[in-house]
Amino acid sequence: MTIPRIIRMHENDNVAIVVNAGGLPEGTVFPDGLTLTTRVPEGHKVALVDIAQGERIVRYDVTIGFALQPIARGTWIEESLVGMPAARGLDDLPRPVRDRAPLAPLEGYTFEGFRNPDGSVGTRNILAISETVQCVSGVVAFAVDRIKKELLPNYPHVDDVIAIEHTYGCGVAIDAPGAEIPIRTLRNIAKNPNFGGRVMLVSLGCEKLQPARLFPQGSIPIQTQTMDAVCLQDAAHVGFGDMIESIMRTAEQHLAQLNLRRRETVPASELVVGVQCGGSDAFSGVTANPAVGYASDLLVRAGAAVMFSETTEVRDGIDQLTARAADDDVAQAMVREMAWYDDYLKRGGVDRSANTTPGNKKGGLANITEKAMGSIIKSGTAPIAGVLAPGEKLQQKGLIYAATPASDFICGTLQLAAGMNMHVFTTGRGTPYGLAAVPVVKVATRDDLARRWHDLMDINAGRIATGDATIADVGWELFHFLLDVASGRKKTWAEHWKLHNALTLFNPAPVT
Ligand code: CA
Repeated sequence: MTIPRIIRMHENDNVAIVVNAGGLPEGTVFPDGLTLTTRVPEGHKVALVDIAQGERIVRYDVTIGFALQPIARGTWIEESLVGMPAARGLDDLPRPVRDRAPLAPLEGYTFEGFRNPDGSVGTRNILAISETVQCVSGVVAFAVDRIKKELLPNYPHVDDVIAIEHTYGCGVAIDAPGAEIPIRTLRNIAKNPNFGGRVMLVSLGCEKLQPARLFPQGSIPIQTQTMDAVCLQDAAHVGFGDMIESIMRTAEQHLAQLNLRRRETVPASELVVGVQCGGSDAFSGVTANPAVGYASDLLVRAGAAVMFSETTEVRDGIDQLTARAADDDVAQAMVREMAWYDDYLKRGGVDRSANTTPGNKKGGLANITEKAMGSIIKSGTAPIAGVLAPGEKLQQKGLIYAATPASDFICGTLQLAAGMNMHVFTTGRGTPYGLAAVPVVKVATRDDLARRWHDLMDINAGRIATGDATIADVGWELFHFLLDVASGRKKTWAEHWKLHNALTLFNPAPVT
């Protein structure tokens, strides 16, 4: 017989979640005498005390909702019983906490990475071919296929050749407010540390996003821009074959340069780790995200940069976050990004509650407030050292709030632009997400998912729920795994199977 298990996140909570696979039947008696008056599905909440109508429902020591009717002790708190709290206003938020004891430095950890001329460090050695506009994508894809078959085998120190394909570049209101976001995202992706510091570009010729607008003078460290850019409408190209020849000739020069790069031992502080979650369930905030938070603290203590994101999933915790800001400027920058996003959603006629998915709810998350509390835990406990607007490039170490939508593909794309060289992705419902440009480490929230998706999930945080591992155990496991994958000693499952999602730009401006 299985032992019934529940997890309460904080001593002030009046709910806990059922851990047992498949849930627990009505009549289940727990060691402390709590008896289930209804069936409770796996990952869903049970009332630990009688909760009166209108009373607060508390998880993570935070009000995640209000009881819409009386809820007896031992009852399944279905989504329909929970009223959603209003969003916290952005005025009169807590000031940053002063005189916080700094986290103890963590020294002596290294990985083998590719040092770039600008000082950044890559975890992979990839030729990335930038594109100004979607029109060229078919041609570039054709060329990349041939480059991989005919040229790449001659350059054994280069890991891969990829196209930075996207749907932007023309048919857009390129001077509208917000258009700077997709443009700087493309510019900064080209400068990702995994691409070796030089840019190769293919343009069409007549598009709105001209090469000089994508890469203005001085924006990239290229020696001679003409050598690195191929324009398909160039009069010298006679026929498709000429275009492909031009791209392959330019690519070969880049491959020869990249092939000179060698891994060298660098401190763990050179890691730039983007964390996010997708396909979340009630275990995300109990197992995987706390373990990622633990690893995030280890990384920050080692001097690395860690980015957490997903604005609609942290919006409900803004009062925690301003208190954790390193100073008033950082707190104000957080509020600026939340206000911008509130306004963006409002223009679309929705609010933050548009975030949750059917899968989230089936997995036990009643609303965005509950989801947000489980999401923020990924950021660990370090002070927030800085804030990035969407598409900006990271220039500092420590814990950073990189403002992005929660959409997995858009968040990953923007973290790529910020300069991440490792990506950590937690999932409860399960997603095979991957990126071509950086290794994506996937962390499962539940034993069952880790078992069924044994060749897709890299780390099993479900052992925390079953009592077979602690949050610290899994946090350290993830930390060491990141160093191994960054060094090229290990591959993630997404790399092994070459599972790559499309880059997806965040374009808040109109199209024409
Ligand atoms: Ca996400």
